[in-house]
Amino acid sequence: MVRTRIAPSPTGHDIHIGNLYTALINWTYARKHNGQFIIRVEDTDRERLVEGAEARILSTFKAFGLDYDEGPDLGGLYAPYRQSDRLKIYHKHAKELVEKGHAYYCFCKKERLDEIRKKQISEKKIPRYDRYCLNNIKIPQELIDKGEKYVIRLKVPENRTIIFNDVIRGEIKFESNNIDDQILIKSDGYPTYHMAVVIDDYLMSITHVIRAEEWIPSTPKHILLYEAFGWPFPIYAHLPILRNPDKSKLSKRKNPVFASWYLEQGFLPKAMLNFLALMGWSHPEQKEIFDLNEFKEKFELEDMQPVGPAFDIVKLEWMNGEYIRRTPNDELRTLIYEFYLKEYPEDLITKTVPLIKERIKKLSDYLPLCEFFFKEPEVDLSGVGTGRDLSLPQKIHDELEKIEDWKADVIGEKMQELAKRENVKAGDFFMTLRVAITGKKISPPLNESMEILGKEKCLERLSKI
Ligand code: GLU
Repeated sequence: MVRTRIAPSPTGHDIHIGNLYTALINWTYARKHNGQFIIRVEDTDRERLVEGAEARILSTFKAFGLDYDEGPDLGGLYAPYRQSDRLKIYHKHAKELVEKGHAYYCFCKKERLDEIRKKQISEKKIPRYDRYCLNNIKIPQELIDKGEKYVIRLKVPENRTIIFNDVIRGEIKFESNNIDDQILIKSDGYPTYHMAVVIDDYLMSITHVIRAEEWIPSTPKHILLYEAFGWPFPIYAHLPILRNPDKSKLSKRKNPVFASWYLEQGFLPKAMLNFLALMGWSHPEQKEIFDLNEFKEKFELEDMQPVGPAFDIVKLEWMNGEYIRRTPNDELRTLIYEFYLKEYPEDLITKTVPLIKERIKKLSDYLPLCEFFFKEPEVDLSGVGTGRDLSLPQKIHDELEKIEDWKADVIGEKMQELAKRENVKAGDFFMTLRVAITGKKISPPLNESMEILGKEKCLERLSKI
C-alpha cells in the first residue's frame, strides 16, 4: 500500500507554490497506485508560527482539489496529524534513543556554543558540537532535577559513509564526519524537524517521502535516525526546486510565491495543476494540456528530471487562457460570478461571456474589460478619435435613436453609414463611439456590447457627453 504525505509548516501566510507542486506529485503518486495521501502539519518551530496559517493551507489544498485521506481536520488511523499534538510521542522516542546510547542530554549554554563555534571557524574547521556533555556529564538526571535547561542530541556515528538511493537522482552519499550531533529535542520541549519527521513518517506508515530538493542534506540525518531506531527507511524522491525563468530560486521578488495569490488572480486550479505537472516532467506525447486523470495515468516518478524547471508566469497565463476557452460558457459564467463574490448580476455576465472568452487569460481580466456593463464609465474624449468635437456623439445619438431592431449587425451597419456620411475615418469614428460607451479604448466587440447594454443606456451615455 502506497502512502505519501505533504508536511507543510504553518510559518507563512499560506502554502508556498513549491509546496503545492510537491503536494501535487505526492497526491498523483498515491492516487495512481490506489494508495493514500495525507497531510501532516509540522508546527514545531514555535517562533515562526503564523496565526491562521494552518487553516489557510488546508483550505488552499481543498480549493485546488487535492483531496487527502487523513489530516488534522479529518483525523485518521494515525491521528493526531499536527505535530504540536504529538509531543509525548517524540519524548518517549527520544528517551528510547538515550537509553540505547544513540542520543544524549546536552546542557551547554548558548554562550559556550557560540565560543566553540567561533574558535572552530578561526581554525578553519567545520563548526560542530564538541560533545562536552556526552563526555563529562555522567548523571544528567541530577541536572534535569535541578531544573537545568537541556536539549537532546543525536550521537552521530564517526567515519561512516551514509548512502541512500533517490528515485529521481540515484545514489547519494554523505560522510557522517561532516554531520553535527543534531538536536532532536529543543530546550522548549519541542522536537526538531529531523526528529519529528522521522518518527511521524515511520509511525504513519509513509512508504514514499517525496519532497523538495532542499531537503537532501537533511536526509542522511534522517537515515541515521531510522538506523538508531532500527526502522526501515522509506523510499526517497527529491523533486527539483522551482526556479524563476532566470534560473534563480523562486522568490517573492520575481514571482508571487503563495498558492492563494494565484487563486485571487483568477488562475483556474485545473490550469495551475496542469502547469505544475509540467515542471520537471513531460508528457510522453509532448502534450501541454491534459487533465489530472491523464497525468495520473502517464506519470512515473522515475521520469522526473532533477534540474530546476522554470516557473514562467507568462506561460502559465497562456495555459490559463487555454483552459478558459475550453470551459463551457455557463460554467465560465459561474466562475466569474463567484470570483467577483456575486457582486454583478449573473444574467448580464451570461450575455458578456461569449464576447470576452477569447480575450481573457485569467478571471481578474474580466472586470477591466466589462465593468462598463455594470457601471457608468467615466468618459474623457480628449485626444480620442474625433476628440472634443461634440457634434459627432450627438449625431450618433440621433442615428441610434432611430433604430428599432436593436441588434449588433443593425447597429454596426447604421454606424458605418453614418461615418461615411459624415466623412469621418472609420477608426476615429468607432474610437469615439467606443470611448463614449465603454469609457475605454479597448473593449469587447463594440456592436455586440451595445446590443447587450441596451438602447436606452447607450443613448443615455451619448447624451451625457
Ligand atoms: N515541514 C517541512 C516543510 O515545511 C517538510 C519537509 C519534508 O517533507 O520532509 O516543507
